[in-house]
Amino acid sequence: MNKAAFYKITYGIYVVTAGQNGKFNGQIANTMFQVTSAPATVAISINKENYTHELIKLSNKFAVSFLAEAAPMTFIGTFGFKCGRNIDKLKNVKIKIGATKVPIVLDYAIAYLEAELISELDCGTHTIFVGRIVDADVLSQEEPMTYAYYHKVKGGKAPKNAPTYMKEELAAKSEQAAPAAPYVCSVCGYVYDPAKGDPDGGIAPGIRFEDIPDSWVCPVCGADKSKFEKEQ
Ligand code: FE
Repeated sequence: MNKAAFYKITYGIYVVTAGQNGKFNGQIANTMFQVTSAPATVAISINKENYTHELIKLSNKFAVSFLAEAAPMTFIGTFGFKCGRNIDKLKNVKIKIGATKVPIVLDYAIAYLEAELISELDCGTHTIFVGRIVDADVLSQEEPMTYAYYHKVKGGKAPKNAPTYMKEELAAKSEQAAPAAPYVCSVCGYVYDPAKGDPDGGIAPGIRFEDIPDSWVCPVCGADKSKFEKEQ
């Protein structure tokens, strides 16, 4: 079996939210698809260890926000690599309460749907939840973020009016001094690519990992610089 074939499957990037009675949480998921159109139903696959899994079981409903390409890594990181049992992920996020009373994440969302659970399938590590869609809407005409885009494209150049732009001159100098190596976060697997920098985190393209200020943290999981290792 050639598992590389799995990487050819296409996905989107979504925030799945669930809960009730003041207990709410959201997480990043890439596995969602529409199952039928009449009635409109959708399926999502959620890891059993995730707090959101527990809350879908509890509330029998969930909402899904479809993220735009513009969603920064810091935003994805909050929902993707932090546990909602310890922090309130929805605290600093724009939400709306819809038909199911589950908070729908609006930040960087181009569309959303709300669903009531009608079926579930135990798949070992994950559960596939099937929900009847009770409401949905389009929020913007921006491009949806695909899973491939999330992996390949996130990064880019700082615009001239950005506070980080000045650093590019400095970056050019430091690149001359030594070849820049990528560094990997040992917590979440995020790769700091010096060619891309971390514009969302104020690090311009071209800055070597060694030259990043110590106050900088992993844009995905929040781990500090000491948790990074040079990519082999
Ligand atoms: Fe990380």
